[in-house]
Amino acid sequence: MIVHPELRRAARRARRPLFAATVLHGAVTLTHLAQAALLALALARLAAGHTGSLAWLLAAVLAVVAVRAALGTWQRRTATRAGAEVRVGLRDELLAHLGGLGPAYLTTARAGAVRTTLVDGVEGVDAYVSRYLPQLLVTLTVPPLVLTALAVVEPAVLLGLVPALLLALFGPRAWDRLLAARGKEHWDTYEGLGADYLEALQGMPALRAAGAVGRTRARLEERSAALHRATVAKLRVSLVDTGITDLAIQGGTAAAALLACWSAVSGSTTATGTYLVLLLASECFRPVRDLAREWHAGYLGVSAADGIAALRTAEPSVRETGDVQAAPAHRSTPPELRFENVWFTYDGVAEPTVRGVSFTAPAGRTTAIVGPSGAGKSTLLALLLRHHDPQAGRIALDGRGTTEHSLDALRRGIAVVSQDTYLFHATVADNLRMARPGATDDELTAAARAAGVHDEIAALPDGYATVLGERGATLSGGQRQRLALARALLADAPVLVLDEATSAVDERREADIVRELLKAAGHRTVLVIAHRLAAVRHADRIVVLDGGRVDAVGDHAGLVDAGGVYARLVEAGRTHPGELAA
Ligand code: ATP
Repeated sequence: MIVHPELRRAARRARRPLFAATVLHGAVTLTHLAQAALLALALARLAAGHTGSLAWLLAAVLAVVAVRAALGTWQRRTATRAGAEVRVGLRDELLAHLGGLGPAYLTTARAGAVRTTLVDGVEGVDAYVSRYLPQLLVTLTVPPLVLTALAVVEPAVLLGLVPALLLALFGPRAWDRLLAARGKEHWDTYEGLGADYLEALQGMPALRAAGAVGRTRARLEERSAALHRATVAKLRVSLVDTGITDLAIQGGTAAAALLACWSAVSGSTTATGTYLVLLLASECFRPVRDLAREWHAGYLGVSAADGIAALRTAEPSVRETGDVQAAPAHRSTPPELRFENVWFTYDGVAEPTVRGVSFTAPAGRTTAIVGPSGAGKSTLLALLLRHHDPQAGRIALDGRGTTEHSLDALRRGIAVVSQDTYLFHATVADNLRMARPGATDDELTAAARAAGVHDEIAALPDGYATVLGERGATLSGGQRQRLALARALLADAPVLVLDEATSAVDERREADIVRELLKAAGHRTVLVIAHRLAAVRHADRIVVLDGGRVDAVGDHAGLVDAGGVYARLVEAGRTHPGELAA
């Protein structure tokens, strides 16, 4: 019965409506008690043959029923509103926190499991907070009141009711620890299944290519069966719970009835008293019965509480160190970008991935970073965007360290274009406006034209209003890249990064695309993370990275003449066109 701290915290978000919902719930319960009392009076009159005031009493019962219906509707509405406040607030907080955790978090946590926590877990918290908690408070207050009233009428019935109530409320608690363990097991299996399905759906092309669809299906089936087993195991325990509660309720009511009959026969109470005892005894158990029902509704919230707490308190890999209040750096001149003796080691990896990297990307020029696979190019980009912070050295924009900018301003000032760019299941225009929600149609077309993708968008069935398939599946790799560039141009960030990570186009075409992109980039500081060489030979400056160190810096001709790593890469590219190999 102890409320999980995470759920208490969630309830505090909607203190007022929850309080109102609880008070209304109490009022609904009181109407049940009033009805029982009125019926007891009516029955006693009937038994005694006094039918005079019977009509009034029955009218009063009907009035109580009508009042209850109105109060019940009001209560449900208030509780739903309270639940919605909790749900929306919690989801917003978790999403904002997830945003702060950044992509680094999702490389270690499984996206499907996070989704399950965010969607199903939060729904469970809503049910727990808006339905179970008010019921719990009513259950803890109403039965003692009824018992006090009954003690005045006929103290002997307490002998039957008190032990039964205690057993109904606390008996199942003996199973709590087992239920919590089974519940956790069930939730973990559920989360795992969600994550597996998401991965299987997203990775379908890869699974098909590897001929692993059958094996994956078998694994998913096994996972489903495990979930079934976990559900049954949990149900078995909670059925014992329900069984004990029911037994106590039935036993208590029967005992109270017997005691009432005995008191009637022995003449220790009046006829009204006997009927009151009979009817109120069963009212005494109503909140307990309802509590058992709401417990099942809110149970998911209890199971998910640990997951929600873990997500909410997960530490971001970088801390906000900049001035959050400062307006995002928006200026007319592009900044100079400088890496100063940067060292970085990934968590849990023995050797540093970046070893004392220093170079300058001049303002308004194009600098390419090249190097064999695994040299650390993408890691440098992750450091620039502060997905991680280097252990030593610093990265500066116009002399101001990246840690001095607020994370939001920093990331808004650097637009990244890659084929990985996520396109949402929304219209082309919506996807573009993500960068600048207030952009006019003219600004959209201007950006699309500059990125060389306007004609292709215009040729789509609904032009800019065409809804893109999930992950932009209806566009080619190059089109997606150019759409991403249009988005980056709209964002008007002074630094543009072209990450050629997963190139789906041939090398010649890629070189053309990069040339077009660079032309469109205009007056910006551009960094090209090049995984192939053809794209970068025209860069103003090329930084050659090898094994996490800067091997050389220069332009294409100079580097070829110097005959180092770069020359070898060019030679390898000639003999094996395509991906760079070490
Ligand atoms: P490619 O051209 O193949 O994309 P790259 O030059 O971009 O390679 P990085 O992705 O920066 O190389 O990787 C550099 C090294 O860091 C690799 O050895 C890689 O295994 C390692 N690495 C990358 N990401 C992580 C991570 N999250 N945790 C641990 N090690 C990582």
